[in-house]
Amino acid sequence: MRPVERGDAPEMYSDYADARPALIDRIGMYCSYCERRISANLAVEHVLPKSLHPDLELEWSNFLLGCVNCNSTKGNREVDRNEILLPDQDNCFVAFEYDEMGRIGPAGNLSAGLNDKAERLLWLTGLDKLPDEFDDDALFEAAMERWRQRIDVWNLAQLQKTDLESENTEALRRATERLAVQAGFFSIWMKVFEDDHDMRLRFISVFSGTSLDCFDPSTTEPLARPGGHC
Ligand SMILES: [Zn+2]
Repeated sequence: MRPVERGDAPEMYSDYADARPALIDRIGMYCSYCERRISANLAVEHVLPKSLHPDLELEWSNFLLGCVNCNSTKGNREVDRNEILLPDQDNCFVAFEYDEMGRIGPAGNLSAGLNDKAERLLWLTGLDKLPDEFDDDALFEAAMERWRQRIDVWNLAQLQKTDLESENTEALRRATERLAVQAGFFSIWMKVFEDDHDMRLRFISVFSGTSLDCFDPSTTEPLARPGGHC
């Protein structure tokens, strides 16, 4: 999952929904959890739910962006920042693994403590569930879509990688950057291009608001995030 940096509050808000354009400007038009690119219905998402923390309803540092699937699964579930990994406080990139089947799971090399925190984030957003585990029809459809898109983007990234292997040009590299930004799913691009540091540096740079503290600037290897659990 992409670690993001929303930066300082651009202004005080009297309605949290007004923060949406600034959030999109800072961290891109992506769901902060499933990483989908969403052009409509991308909501301002309260990390700690506003129903349980009304004092944080207008607090910029409590905002991320969420798709309807992640947002409604998360709902009013309580979040304790000490007990969970989150894209705005940890280097979530090291904590999860993605594969060509669209699956997401905790990375295999995590300590027991980190593994629990990673599992909690998957549970919070339903990213650990197969689509048919959602009993609500609308959520099932949204989860199917979320799942299908992950597979599509994995395949797209693989095709770009294959093309780059036969025609390694600057133009094709720039086209791959642009395609990735349009397609979303930062972590999938980073995984498919795990041996191509140049492309990985480009992805880190072109996906707005990716936390630069989380990656070695020359090797792109993940770094522990200052103040985070990982
Ligand atoms: Zn989502």
